[in-house]
Formats: sequence, C-alpha cells, structure tokens
Amino acid sequence: MPIPPSAAEPPYDYLIVGGGAAGLSLAYHLAQEPSLAAKRVLLIEPAAKAQNDRTWSFWANKPGFFDKIAVREWDQVAFRSPGFEQVFSLRSYRYRTVRGLDFYQFVRRALAARPAQFVVVQEEVSSLENISGGVRARTTAGLEFTAHYAFDSRPPTLPRQPEKHRYLLQHFVGWEVETAHDVFNPHVVEFMDFRGAQHHEARFMYVLPFGPRRALVEYTLFSADVLPKSEYEGPIRDYLQQTLGLAPSHYRVMDEEVGAIPMTDHPLPAREGERIINLGTRAGRAKPSTGYAFQRIQAHSVRLVAALAATGQPPHDPTGDQWQFRMFDTLLLDIMQRRGELTRTIFTQLFRRNPVERILRFLDEETSWADNLRIMNSVSAGPFLRSIGQVLVGRVGKR
Ligand SMILES: Cc1cc2nc3c(=O)[nH]c(=O)nc-3n(C[C@H](O)[C@H](O)[C@H](O)COP(=O)(O)OP(=O)(O)OC[C@H]3O[C@@H](n4cnc5c(N)ncnc54)[C@H](O)[C@@H]3O)c2cc1C
Repeated sequence: MPIPPSAAEPPYDYLIVGGGAAGLSLAYHLAQEPSLAAKRVLLIEPAAKAQNDRTWSFWANKPGFFDKIAVREWDQVAFRSPGFEQVFSLRSYRYRTVRGLDFYQFVRRALAARPAQFVVVQEEVSSLENISGGVRARTTAGLEFTAHYAFDSRPPTLPRQPEKHRYLLQHFVGWEVETAHDVFNPHVVEFMDFRGAQHHEARFMYVLPFGPRRALVEYTLFSADVLPKSEYEGPIRDYLQQTLGLAPSHYRVMDEEVGAIPMTDHPLPAREGERIINLGTRAGRAKPSTGYAFQRIQAHSVRLVAALAATGQPPHDPTGDQWQFRMFDTLLLDIMQRRGELTRTIFTQLFRRNPVERILRFLDEETSWADNLRIMNSVSAGPFLRSIGQVLVGRVGKR
C-alpha cells in the first residue's frame, strides 16, 4: 500500500501501533470524541486485515459502539456439568458476537471518512522508543514516524519465568456447522458444558447458536500446551453425535476457528516509559483467568480517551486494574495449573450458588467487596487456601 503523502508530515499527536482489536478500538473511540477531532492519528498495521481471523464474543449490560455490527445477541446462557445443569436468564446483560472481519471493515471505514484526522499505513514497526517530548517509530521498510504519544498493541514477548509466574493458554478449535434439521436452541448460548472427560485439566464445550441449524461448536481447554488438532476434533465429533444426536452425514463444517489466548499472571506493563502506552494483550487486557479481552479493551479505550480529552495526557494509571482481582486471577490460575480438574468443580459451585449477574460482574472486576466475599464463600476454600500458601511463599504450584 503506498504511503499517503500526508503520512510524512511529522509529528502526529498519536501513533497507534497495530490495527487489531485494541488498536482499532482505540482509534474508533478517538474518532467518537469531538474534543479530539483536531488531533492527527497515525495507525501502523502490517496486515491487510481482509480475513475473518477471529470472532469476539462478550457480555455487556450497557450499550457499546460495536453493538450495531454484532451478528447476534442472546439473553440466556446454559452452564452444564455432571450433576448440575441450568439455563440462566442474563437479565440486564446480553451476550453478543462480533465477527473480526466486520469489525476491521467497520472501523477502517469510519477512519477513512475522517482523512484529516486519521492516516493508516501498511507497515511493520521494528522499533518504538521514547524520545525527548515524544516517541519515534521505525518500520522494517526503513520509514520513521514521530508523535507526541504512542499506543502499542504489538503482541507481547514475555521472557518466561515459570518459577515465578503461571503460564496457561485458553486454546480451542471451533467448527461452524450447518445441520440437516433443527438441533440448536437459537436463544441459549452453551457457555460452558463441562460434562466431558477432563483429563486432569479444564475442558468444556462452548456453543454459539446462530440459528436452529447453524452454530459454532468449540472445544475449549485451559491448560499449558496446545494439543494435536485431532484431540479437539474428536470431542467435537463426539459432542455432535452423542449430545446432539448428529451423525456425520447430518452436518457440514462451514468454517473453523482455531486459537490460543495466553492466560498468565506474568506482569504486563501498562506503559513503557513516559509516552508509550501499551494496549490489548500487550497491556494484560486478556483476563488472566478467562482469556476474555474484547470488553476489557473497550473499557481501556474509554479510560484513555476520557483522560486525553480532559487533560491532554494519558491517565497516570492507564488501566485502573485493582489488586484484589489480580489476586483472584492468580489463585485461579494456580489451581488450574496445579489441579486443573478442580476448575470444573469451582465453576459449578459458582454457577450453582450465585446469581449469574454477580458472576459476570465479578469476571468484569466490577463487584463490591461484599460481593467478592459472597463469591469466595460460594466455592470450596481448600484449593484456594492451598494456592494462597503457594503464592505467599512465592512458589508456583505444581501438580
Ligand atoms: C481466535 C481468537 C478468538 C478470540 N475470541 C475472543 C472472544 O470471543 N472474546 C474475547 O473477549 N476475546 C477473544 N479473544 C482474545 C482477544 O480479544 C483477541 O486476542 C484480541 O484480538 C486481542 O487484541 P489485540 O489488539 O491485543 O491483538 P490483535 O487483535 O492480535 O492485534 C494486534 C495487531 O498488531 C499487529 N502487529 C503485530 N506486529 C506488529 C508490528 N511489528 N508492527 C505493527 N503492528 C503489528 C498485528 O498484525 C495485529 O493486527 C480471541 C483471540 C483469538 C486468537
């Protein structure tokens, strides 16, 4: 893609490195803030982003900028494990799904409609540094750009410290299937179906029904290592056959989603020096204990844009994360790493003993101290006490 002549005019107000979920979300939020309309923003992204490389699902209890491009929304979710199954009304919440490609195209169109404010270049950033009064980025093609602030969403490179921190993955293979007859309840998301074998890990099926004959059926694991593909496909086939009664001739696989999201308590800094603010996965926006990131990325964008509009600077504390939720994440990760099979028991207790809205608020890190205590009281203390011990002595749990 040729560099627009305007791209060479230094300096920009804001430089956004990476145009995936976090970079494009921040750009879109900036575009919606009238008091920042005169700011010049350069977004650098190496990929064309012309593929539907992922699908984001999330819950929300207030309107969001991307609701209009959601392919579907649901107001019920099911939780299932041996001995406990329930369909929950989400009440004030809705569960929504946005396709990656729709999101990339929607935001890029919005940016293209404001050519005086936004410039997008297809380049790969090779270095980004704080310089006096601003930042400088260099690209692999040898171009150089300067700006007052940079927002960096390149994937983080973690120097792993397994003796200090916990490293798991939420990894999955999903098939979008079309069936010969009505099988799916289009009103209910199968949020977590833990009825299958756990193999000393956390393993569940997740089903997003787009209609009675079409759904994404995903086999999801919280564990340390990605498996050979066949080890996901076997359980998906079994689920279709044994749980839904679908012989292989009764469905067609229309699309596939494969992914691995880091789940770690390795600290991911919210900023690098004075003028580089991290975004997305790089800034720890993938929740360590669940892998959900999309709504945390939106909340982060709101926080950054509000501070830029009010003070002209990013906030002193860019994420606003609260320590008690980081501790809960660490304890849960420790249990998942040490005794992964207990994850099913913990989630079952959570869903059996709490209103679903409280669980969602807790996972959104919006619960009060009183609700946090109610949540902690609803799960068996033993595994958590053991993990508290491990964390206090600075030891990472082993099986
Ligand atoms: C398959 C999949 C499904 C997911 N589903 C969900 C979900 O349902 N719900 C949810 O909440 N979360 C989900 N996540 C987690 C999370 O929301 C996504 O990973 C999200 O895309 C993270 O946003 P990001 O901007 O940090 O990273 P990305 O969206 O990956 O964006 C990073 C961008 O940086 C660019 N980049 C890389 N190197 C450079 C460089 N050197 N210079 C410039 N740019 C560069 C990349 O090309 C990319 O566009 C999913 C993740 C995956 C992988």
